[in-house]
Amino acid sequence: MSNIYSILESQGYKPQHKGEWVFINCPFHLEEKPSLGIKQDFFKCFGCGKSGSLIYLLEELGIIEKPEIDVVGNIKEKLLNSVISNLSSLVGIPKDAKIFDREYRRITPNTYRVFNVFTSKFFPDELIFPIYAEDNLRGLVRKPLQGKYKINFYGKYLPYNFANCLSTNLIVVEGVFDALSVWQAGYNNVCSVLGTGNVYNFTRFLRSIKARNVCILFDGDNAGRSAAKKLNEMYSNSYIIDMPEDTDPNSLSNLKEFLQRNIKQ
Ligand SMILES: [Zn+2]
Repeated sequence: MSNIYSILESQGYKPQHKGEWVFINCPFHLEEKPSLGIKQDFFKCFGCGKSGSLIYLLEELGIIEKPEIDVVGNIKEKLLNSVISNLSSLVGIPKDAKIFDREYRRITPNTYRVFNVFTSKFFPDELIFPIYAEDNLRGLVRKPLQGKYKINFYGKYLPYNFANCLSTNLIVVEGVFDALSVWQAGYNNVCSVLGTGNVYNFTRFLRSIKARNVCILFDGDNAGRSAAKKLNEMYSNSYIIDMPEDTDPNSLSNLKEFLQRNIKQ
């Protein structure tokens, strides 16, 4: 919990270190000298005696939104009972979230806006892709500018952009940038498995929606091809489109034409 200090400071509080504790003025009673201490995922006020989880405190301070739906509540309950080693495992959309409004990896600012892709100081150097079911937040896909995905699901596994894939035809890609590229090429019914390691979970999703025509569009490398083959064997109503060597949907410059040639209707 080393960054709680800087987060509080950036939100206008004046935290003070005392040994393992970080102290601020208590929001639950009036005081002039800080007597509310935070240690790991826990706080205690030595003035009024109020204590509880760090998540609860951050909600009270207005730094994070209170989750409003049950599925988030369940996860929150779990978090309350566990030690949170890092603020980035918090649930919900931070209040300082800003829609990402640059062109990046061939994805336009408009596409990022449509998908509510955001940045926040809770997740330094990461782009955050929310997973929605109707208007409810079901997960956050966190893509560090360098490195692998981190995913916070609020409940069970769901592919990215699954809400647009509940019809019987869908296109499945590996990553979130691939999904946005395919969407930009005019295909809304695209979802990302969020890494080839989720292929097994993904077949359960396909069965649950009874998908009939699944186009597997994984990367043109060994990992992508072997995951595509595995998925195609596990799920019968699917076919593979083989990407050119060392390309993925996000990097292919003529993606739209490539899809028009290869997608089976
Ligand atoms: Zn107090």
